[in-house]
Amino acid sequence: MYSTEDYKNIDDSTDCIFERSNQQLLVNRTQRNLLIKSEVTKSYEFLYNILLENEVVDYDSLHINNEYIKFFSSETFYIILKNAISEWVTYNKNAQKMNERIRCELCGYPIFYACTILNIKNANILRVGRSCASVFRLL
Ligand SMILES: [Zn+2]
Repeated sequence: MYSTEDYKNIDDSTDCIFERSNQQLLVNRTQRNLLIKSEVTKSYEFLYNILLENEVVDYDSLHINNEYIKFFSSETFYIILKNAISEWVTYNKNAQKMNERIRCELCGYPIFYACTILNIKNANILRVGRSCASVFRLL
């Protein structure tokens, strides 16, 4: 997890960062958190459990299990991710300034300005930075 201490020098307007590009990464933190909060994921128990057990999914977290590695590189996984994204709409489009830095509930980055997104299938609500909100074309 990011520590707020790591970012004490950044200014108020700093927004979410994107996960460093990493070829070993099959599911990044943002995708993982979105999937866990989405309804479609619950139909795939093994997927849900892998996500709960790991902050990101890489080859190590799958213990080099070829079936799982194949799954995370498959069209099926891509469609699950797309379906998960489609469950979310913008609840509060205008980014609100928080009294203190909070963590973006998708990428975990400390943010001062948060948008609210709503899951229309299960009513989950997440406070996210502007970058994470726009990654999913929610704005
Ligand atoms: Zn974020």
